[in-house]
Amino acid sequence: DSSLREEVGARLRDIPDFPKPGIRFKDMTPVLADPRLLSRVVDAMAAPFQGQRISRVVGVEARGFLLGAPIALKLHAGLVPARKPGKLPWRTRTERYSLEYGEDALQVHEDAVGPGDRVLIVDDLLATGGTADAAARLVTQLGGEVVGFSFLISLDFLPGRERLGRDKVCALLSY
Ligand code: IMP
Repeated sequence: DSSLREEVGARLRDIPDFPKPGIRFKDMTPVLADPRLLSRVVDAMAAPFQGQRISRVVGVEARGFLLGAPIALKLHAGLVPARKPGKLPWRTRTERYSLEYGEDALQVHEDAVGPGDRVLIVDDLLATGGTADAAARLVTQLGGEVVGFSFLISLDFLPGRERLGRDKVCALLSY
């Protein structure tokens, strides 16, 4: 609801020139530190996917882990970490994506998702959509179905929402 959006918006901290010059970083740690607010945020991010038979929640490293875990519990779904290369111990699948300068990649374990899984992808912030799209490709590669994406924040002046599919993307706050 709008009062939740206002409270969260007031608690997000804008950090100029982090992690590099020209980037304005939205810092969600004040939201994490407030147990009542965090609980309402988790409820709101899970709500659109209640009753959609989500079997796995993919949390994207690293802030997607923090939101993904409680959302998975709410939805009675398993939790899957999508990690930067070299962090997962067992057999992995990899999808690369391009950044403003250069590229990066995400990995999941091969057995983390399979045919029949209905998957929700969770991260803190949607910008260009490159990161979430790589997570979605991992799910599809393993035979799972991407039911949707849940973000705390969507930057709607960037093309992320279109890239992932408007009808699949939920965000508590849009800028
Ligand atoms: P995208 O791939 O361009 O959509 O960028 C989204 C990824 O970058 C997510 O994993 C975010 O956690 C991270 N990110 C980009 N900008 C911010 C920000 O201002 N605050 C927090 N995370 C950010």
